[in-house]
Amino acid sequence: MIKLRTMDEVDITGKRVVMRVDFNVPLKEGKVADDNRIEAHYTTIKEVLEKAPKSLTLLSHLGRPKGKVVDDYSLKPVAKRLAEKYGLDVHLAPPSFDDGALKLLETLKEGQILMLENTRFHPGETKNDPELAKFFASFGEVFISDAFSVAHRSHASNVGITEYLPSFAGRVMEREVSVLSTVKENPKPPFMLLLGGAKVSDKIGIIETLIDKVDKILIGGGMAFTFLKAEGYEIGSSLLEPDKIDFAKKMLDDHGDKIVLPVDVVVSKSIDDTSDIKVVAVDNIPSGYMGLDVGDKTVKLFKDVLKDAEMVLWNGPLGVFEKDEFAKATKEIAYYLTEVKAQVVVGGGDTAAAVRKFDCAKKYWHVSTGGGASLEFFEKDILPGVKPLVKEE
Ligand code: ADP
Ligand code: MG
Repeated sequence: MIKLRTMDEVDITGKRVVMRVDFNVPLKEGKVADDNRIEAHYTTIKEVLEKAPKSLTLLSHLGRPKGKVVDDYSLKPVAKRLAEKYGLDVHLAPPSFDDGALKLLETLKEGQILMLENTRFHPGETKNDPELAKFFASFGEVFISDAFSVAHRSHASNVGITEYLPSFAGRVMEREVSVLSTVKENPKPPFMLLLGGAKVSDKIGIIETLIDKVDKILIGGGMAFTFLKAEGYEIGSSLLEPDKIDFAKKMLDDHGDKIVLPVDVVVSKSIDDTSDIKVVAVDNIPSGYMGLDVGDKTVKLFKDVLKDAEMVLWNGPLGVFEKDEFAKATKEIAYYLTEVKAQVVVGGGDTAAAVRKFDCAKKYWHVSTGGGASLEFFEKDILPGVKPLVKEE
């Protein structure tokens, strides 16, 4: 199990604190459209402020401005939401990444927050430039790393900075690593992996890491069709990754007893043409039709398998849940997982969005804030953004 240095191990009272958060939120017409991430980090921010540090400086990226100052990617709407939602006094620095921001920090009083502009406005951020990392570090005496969702990236504001400051995991980071490493290294049997989403290729890593630890792998979503094809079924115009058929075959040959595939699917001529939607058995997919959700019999089968689970890791929606016509299985399984005895962990950005859409997220053990990071957590030995926080025994 990975053990991190946490906020319990540092006294920040009277100290200058720099904290990396992930405020990469969706914006709409210049306003924050979804403030889940702000809410998630607020727990850590609140705790830091309660300990009365001398100052708190927040670092975050937003979107992909590619090393240039792009107004549309300014953190201004984020600073505003954080201030308004929690009654905080948040000062956004100008985007110049120079002494101006440090001078601004000196004018702030205890309890006020400095937010630097989008870290990716600087070309050094994604290159993990040591000069930029040093600049970020100059805002503090202690670094708190809370942005788990960027932990799969080696950037100046989450990895480089740890070279220059004593670094500790914030509460979001701590919880993510604790839950996900339990699932990865020490899952409670029967442990089941529920997979879906678009591509097999995205999920090969997680399958390979967990295959010997899982009791069952249930596969839905677009990726199921490459497996069905490997079983010899005609899949019409459903999503197929021809170069992954061999992988699917090998999995089915070596671990067939663990793998649960759909028995029926919801098909349509296309995602947008909903004039002729039907449910068919997997051996009866008409040509010219594509599978966009799993059918009721499959949902029943999946529920039957999941009912015995003690731990479930769910990554990938079971259908094109963004459209009501193809959301049924994802929604039903999402509800069902709120009722089972198992500890349920959701990873993947779209899966997290789906379970929030269906109002189930708060009922699970854990919904990861990391999209790509949660997947890579399972694929890699250790993520670059987690490594500098590991406690030496
Ligand atoms: P996550 O972000 O949770 O890891 P993915 O990115 O792998 O999930 O997959 C999510 C996408 O998969 C969704 O946008 C959904 O519409 C799509 N999807 C699910 N089922 C199908 C299907 N049968 N055919 C095509 N796309 C699908
Ligand atoms: Mg996705």
